Amino acid sequence: MTEWVSSPKMADRHPEWMDILCTSLRSETWSDTLNPIVQKILNNVQLEEEDGVALFNEPNLFELGKLALFHKQAMFGEKAYFNSNVHINQTNICVLACRFCAFRRGPKADDAYALTIENYLEELAKFSPYVNEVHSVGGLHPEWTVEHYCQLFQRIRSEHPHISIKALTAVEVKHLAQLSNLSIKETLVQLKNAGLTSLPGGGAEILDDEVRAVICNGKESSQEYIDIHQSAHEIGLPSNCTMLFGTIESTLQRVQHMLKLRDLASQTHGFQCFVPYPFLPDSTRLPMAQLSTGQEILRVIAVSRILLDSIPHIKAYRMNIGDELAELALQFGADDIDGTVQQESIMHLAGSTAPLSHDLKQLSKLVKSAGCVPVKRNTIYTEFEAYVPPEPIKRLPMA
Ligand code: SF4
Repeated sequence: MTEWVSSPKMADRHPEWMDILCTSLRSETWSDTLNPIVQKILNNVQLEEEDGVALFNEPNLFELGKLALFHKQAMFGEKAYFNSNVHINQTNICVLACRFCAFRRGPKADDAYALTIENYLEELAKFSPYVNEVHSVGGLHPEWTVEHYCQLFQRIRSEHPHISIKALTAVEVKHLAQLSNLSIKETLVQLKNAGLTSLPGGGAEILDDEVRAVICNGKESSQEYIDIHQSAHEIGLPSNCTMLFGTIESTLQRVQHMLKLRDLASQTHGFQCFVPYPFLPDSTRLPMAQLSTGQEILRVIAVSRILLDSIPHIKAYRMNIGDELAELALQFGADDIDGTVQQESIMHLAGSTAPLSHDLKQLSKLVKSAGCVPVKRNTIYTEFEAYVPPEPIKRLPMA
């Protein structure tokens, strides 16, 4: 099977993977509720809003999962991807106060912090021999302009040239542009020239301004999120995209969110990966949140895989959903489990108990136990390498 990358070849129901998918679909009998959707796929008709809602309401989770798995297998065979990465959150000081956020602090809080460039590089140096990506997002610092980030990225690239920089959410980009008195595009150009490799896609939450007004008042609007990612794609900066579910959104709003992302991906081919993750409530201020069950998390992964035919990869973000569900999600349409991560604050402060400091061997064990083949990838999904775990050390029998 081809190593699919984020490219036009992947997008919009490319005949190569659609042929494989249709053969699989025809080999099964489908329930009355899923059959109309399967028929649309077989006839190369793109799924729409009502189909997305029907998928969410499908009573048989396992049949929904099978439909998603067929999509994943048509695109990637049995492969499942991960990388060696580390998360460094540069600051928790933020001028906003989103109600779902357990991470941000006001500048005067006892545990507020802002890593200087030297502090950041010291932190990165501890992990540098083991990783090829640093993932950095943080609060909206009231003073750091684009110049601060350009200096940081230049230093990372010159001192750790093997490390890709996946950094800054859309709202961070907007904030930097405003503080620096630059357009969004000029901000992104400067960051890219300084070494930024891709945008991680965080901050999409739910792309509906009524929901945003409640859960993240003051953040970028839905359209601004789309526009910022479009600008990134236009200058050759790929990005991921996300969805935070289980707060106050409806099923329809989830579907509309996905379709907005699918439409932009069809236009720019710049989204590499969709990362849906459920709201975690600890230390947040959203008592009215619905919260998500395990079956709902698997359902969201499955629906994403089926609906988002122009976004190549679907990530089971184990930092949020934990290793056990991430493993199951590989059977429900996900093809990626992120990376080694090493350290993480944002999800853990909100209640995640996902283990940290996983090495590649443990990740490959997780992938294999889901029946998949472990493949290491780079940040932008252009380099792949089958992961073969090292042989266990054989101990000599005691004399
Ligand atoms: S989600 Fe981001 S922008 Fe919102 S309060 Fe938290 S750190 Fe600030």
